[in-house]
Amino acid sequence: MKQFAVIGNPIAHSKSPDIHAAFAAQFEIQLNYERLLAKEGKFASTASRFFEYGIGANVTIPFKEAALQFADECSEAANLAGAVNTLSRQGDVIKGDNTDGIGLVRDIRDNHNVSFNNQNILIIGAGGASRGVILPIAKEAPLRITIVNRTLVKAQALSRQFAPYADIQASAFDELSQPFDIIINATSASLNGEALNLPNNIFDIETLAYDMMYGGKPTPFMQFAVESGAMAVNGLGMLVEQAAQSFEVWHGVAPTTQPVINMLRNKLVRELR
Ligand code: NDP
Repeated sequence: MKQFAVIGNPIAHSKSPDIHAAFAAQFEIQLNYERLLAKEGKFASTASRFFEYGIGANVTIPFKEAALQFADECSEAANLAGAVNTLSRQGDVIKGDNTDGIGLVRDIRDNHNVSFNNQNILIIGAGGASRGVILPIAKEAPLRITIVNRTLVKAQALSRQFAPYADIQASAFDELSQPFDIIINATSASLNGEALNLPNNIFDIETLAYDMMYGGKPTPFMQFAVESGAMAVNGLGMLVEQAAQSFEVWHGVAPTTQPVINMLRNKLVRELR
């Protein structure tokens, strides 16, 4: 049986084994996909042991940067993101990729039918998740990308890094004043149930507000966006779409994602009851 895993810390909550089992069933592929807890500072030894028998691994918080160092060769997306979420063993070589950004683009563009082309995009946050989605968004030819972050210098560094790929600028929160077409919350504020200090005039009825965080109920960011007149969705589709891209890297076939998104959404709502 082919062996796969997701490596992180914590890892017990990970939905990846369910997602990959559902994808594998679509093609009658036999595989085993386990959750692997790596101790802090022990990513490389955990991954090395796994790849003695494993074919592919997803990597999640807090090891995506360590996975970039671990891989022998990395894709352009992974190098620019500074992070790897998909490792594949090909002979003696471990390849690293980053499918998070493609996952976000596919969810917004294909599942929610909202195009990035010629649109004004706001990304909130300048951490790993933000860095990972900028290049795939830039490839969709938006009008302009604005990055806003609590620590402004981090947004400025990202805008300099990605200037060759898009019209991109950094902003402080108090400089935001006009509506955007797509607003992506790539901060970890929702993880702690915290609201962001946003002005409500960045939203209008045409705005799609997207929280990368997912759960059974709307986040404070999503609630604020809806109260300000926008449409709001969470990042569950991104999770499933990034997994679909990993699955394609490993198995060479593209799974159907919508039934898996629906299954997980129902499960998350049931868990809240
Ligand atoms: P990082 O720790 O690298 O970055 C966190 C970012 O959030 C920083 O920009 C930080 O600002 C900002 N931030 C945190 N708290 C606040 C606050 N209270 N107010 C304003 N800004 C705040 O995290 P990641 O980038 O790795 O992850 C961010 C989120 O993306 C997580 O919630 C994660 O779950 C989600 N994610 C979802 C995925 C999916 O598949 N749906 C995939 C990947 C990530 P500062 O720089 O000032 O500290």
